[in-house]
Amino acid sequence: MAGFGVPSDAFARYHRLRGNDVLMVSGTDEHGTPVMVAADRESKSYVEIADYYNASFREDFRRLGLSYDCFSRTTTLNHERVTQDLFKTLYEHGAIIEQAQLVSFSATTGHTLPDRYIEGTCPICGYPEARGDQCDNCGNQLDPIDLIEPRSLIDGSTPEFRETNHLFLDLPRFADALRSWMGGHDEWRANVRNFSLRLLDEIRPRPITRDLDWGVRIPIPGTPRIRTSASTSGSTPSSATSRPASSGRPRPTTRTPGANGGRTIVRSTRTSRARTTSSSTP
Ligand SMILES: [Zn+2]
Repeated sequence: MAGFGVPSDAFARYHRLRGNDVLMVSGTDEHGTPVMVAADRESKSYVEIADYYNASFREDFRRLGLSYDCFSRTTTLNHERVTQDLFKTLYEHGAIIEQAQLVSFSATTGHTLPDRYIEGTCPICGYPEARGDQCDNCGNQLDPIDLIEPRSLIDGSTPEFRETNHLFLDLPRFADALRSWMGGHDEWRANVRNFSLRLLDEIRPRPITRDLDWGVRIPIPGTPRIRTSASTSGSTPSSATSRPASSGRPRPTTRTPGANGGRTIVRSTRTSRARTTSSSTP
């Protein structure tokens, strides 16, 4: 709440007071593994879990006085159409590529198992409760397959690691354009600009599909089973055990803050400039 709710609300209120037209929007990310895990645990359907948390967050935010103009959810038909349109446009422009990826699966349910649902012994310091994405004892980032005796945090079973083909957003393709755009922003603080430029040096294709039956269907023939992740559908990014086949030792690409949508876009039409605030803004 302190990370995303309060700053975006203060920012929106400030621009309303300035007389700018403000549209403060957010919503719950209801697709992906966190909802599926919760549904399995509580013996409920995915829809029931999504409905419950959407209502719960909506009520919390209303009582806290957050001034959303629109608080939506990723399970609406509108969201599906926008996501598919974005996906199709990127695909037709060659910005989506196919790569092999090592993915963790639950041996029990057959569903993908995100990094943070895997625990094991850290291969670097020997800490017995290291997570699949990082070790809280030594601070190193990890891949779940590197853990000694990995186990599912959901039911203790040993995860299976399988290489499957997925679709990736070809982010390096945009690096040069972004670099020159950032170069024109002398008003940015030096540490913000340097942080952003360093990200560009390390930018890699990002997986945007999952082996799930709960998500937005990919609008490309030949991929009936695979659904988009939240990262393309515009809400909270999801985590994946990402390992493009061509690279040596890649790292998980994102950290996942939680099941609720945490990103707010505040658009000020007077300046015609979209602004984004989120908990991960440097
Ligand atoms: Zn460690």
